[in-house]
Amino acid sequence: MSLNQSVLICDQVDAVLNNILQKNGLHITYEPQITKEDLAKKIGEFDIIIVRSRTTITADLIEKATKCKIIARVGVGLDNIDTNAAKAKNIRVINAVEGAMNAVAELVIGLMLSMAREIPRADREIRNGNWIKKELMGSELAGKYLGIVGLGNIGKRLARLARSLNMNIIGYDVIPIDPEFAKEVGLIKADLETLLQSADYISLHVPLLDSTKHMINAERISKMKKTARIINTSRGGTIDENALYEAIKSGNLGGAALDVFEVEPATGNKLATLPNVICTPHIGAQTKEAQSLAANVIAEKIIQILRGVI
Ligand code: NAD
Repeated sequence: MSLNQSVLICDQVDAVLNNILQKNGLHITYEPQITKEDLAKKIGEFDIIIVRSRTTITADLIEKATKCKIIARVGVGLDNIDTNAAKAKNIRVINAVEGAMNAVAELVIGLMLSMAREIPRADREIRNGNWIKKELMGSELAGKYLGIVGLGNIGKRLARLARSLNMNIIGYDVIPIDPEFAKEVGLIKADLETLLQSADYISLHVPLLDSTKHMINAERISKMKKTARIINTSRGGTIDENALYEAIKSGNLGGAALDVFEVEPATGNKLATLPNVICTPHIGAQTKEAQSLAANVIAEKIIQILRGVI
C-alpha cells in the first residue's frame, strides 16, 4: 500500500496528527465540523477516516465508504464506530489506548481529593461570601481502601498513582491480573462483591459491554459501605443512575464523582442536584498531553499499517 492516500479528519484533533501524516505524503482533508449528511456524500472518496468523539461512523456510512481501508479513533472507546460493519468490509479500526491512561487516572485522583476535602463546595461558598471552615472537616486518602474494577491500562495507572498516596488497592478484573503489577502495588485481589463491600472508594475502569451494563445496580450498591464513594470515568451505562441517585439521596451511600453519564451531554441530570455528587463533562482524556499523545499514536499506527509493519 503506498503512502499516497487520502485522509478525512472529521473531528478536532491535535495538529501533530496532520503534520506527521502530511510529512509522510498523505493528503489531508480537515473538516472538524462536518455534518453527517456531508460525510455521507464524501466518505466514498477517502482511504482513511479519522474521528474523535463528535462523529459517529455508522453501518450506513461504512456502506458508502467504498475506498476506506482504515478508520481511526483518536481516543480509547470505540462506541462511536460500528466495528462489526467495518470488519465485514475488511476495514481496519484502530484506536489509541495509550493516550488517555495517565490523564484519566489523574482525574480520578483529583475527584477523590475533591470529595474527601469538598474542594468544589469550599470554592463555591467562598464565591458566595461564606467562610464555612468549621463545616469542612475532611478526610485523607492515605490508608483508605480503593477498589478498582477493571485493571486494564487506566485501572493499572490509577493503582500506581493511588499507591503513591498510600492508599490500599483492592482489584477485580475478569481476566488474570499480572503478578508483577500486583506485587508492585501490593494489590489485594478480590471478587467483585468483596471489593464492593470493603472499599472506601470504588472506581470503575471497564468498557461498556452487555456484561458491564448497570454492573453497579441497586442490589450491589446496597452491599457497599454507607460512607463509600463511587467514581465513574469509564462509561455512563456501567452504573444504574436511578439506583445511584436513590442511594445517595437517602444517605445509603457517601457520594459519587461522575465524568460519564448514561445520556451525554448530561446537563439537567438529577444526580448533579445532590450536594455530595461531583460532575465533570467527560473530560477524562481532555488534556493537552493526552490529545497530543493519542494523535502521535494514531499517526504512527496509520503509517505502520500503510508500510505493512503492523
Ligand atoms: P482496557 O481495555 O485497557 O481495560 C479494561 C479492563 O476492564 C480490562 O482489563 C478488562 O478485562 C476489564 N473488564 C472487562 N469486563 C469486566 C468486568 N465485567 N468486570 C471487571 N473487569 C472487566 O481499557 P482502558 O483503556 O483502561 O479504559 C477503561 C474505560 O475507560 C473504558 O470504558 C474507556 O472507554 C474509558 N475511558 C474514558 C475516558 C474519559 O474521558 N472519561 C477516556 C478514556 C477511556
